[in-house]
Amino acid sequence: MQKFIVLILAGFWAVGGSMDASFAGEAAKDSAGSVDAIIAKLRTSPSDASLLDALAKAALSVQKEDVKSRALAICYTGYMLLNRADMAEKAKRVLDKDCAMSDYKHILDTNDVVVVGNCEKCNGTTKIDDVCPDCRGVVPKWTGDVAPNMQNATQCSACQGRGSKPGVGGKPIQCAKCRGMRICTKCNGTGKISIACKICKEGKTRNVNSLKLRTLYNGFLQE
Ligand SMILES: [Zn+2]
Ligand SMILES: [Zn+2]
Ligand SMILES: [Zn+2]
Repeated sequence: MQKFIVLILAGFWAVGGSMDASFAGEAAKDSAGSVDAIIAKLRTSPSDASLLDALAKAALSVQKEDVKSRALAICYTGYMLLNRADMAEKAKRVLDKDCAMSDYKHILDTNDVVVVGNCEKCNGTTKIDDVCPDCRGVVPKWTGDVAPNMQNATQCSACQGRGSKPGVGGKPIQCAKCRGMRICTKCNGTGKISIACKICKEGKTRNVNSLKLRTLYNGFLQE
């Protein structure tokens, strides 16, 4: 499965740059040289996304682990600083797989550049309260014909908490919405319903430590 993912990545990065297999050995030597050349350019233009794209592509055909792992670490931190998390993750996955014992992987794994915390909006529960769409959270005015213990409950908006509505000839019929329960059945009289949090996934938010990232990125470039 992992091999499959790497193949997809290789294909993704190799678009427009396919090479003849017979020159692969030659290309491997060249790509180490081109990695150095791209890194030299990045030192003067560290925010140039097209240079990072070129580096990511070149890194895939490098054999030497120290060169490859450094290039991928630069790609990971550089893409993270540019808010391109998808590309950063791809670089990290190749680093983890192809350079599992490298110093660069160790450095990235022991420096938390992404701080995961509980979502402040939902407090990690993944659910937030929203106004009930049926009763809109409005407690209708007390009319005197509702049981006293329901005074403060959010009543059924269809029958205003009477439990019935005038039918044919004025004869009361049971309210279809609350089935005579008088109280909003959608929210059980709370006026609120629970919905999925709109700003997080699984109750967690990821905050990027930009200062640490920049320090690592500049360090990798200057080595
Ligand atoms: Zn949330
Ligand atoms: Zn309701
Ligand atoms: Zn009703």
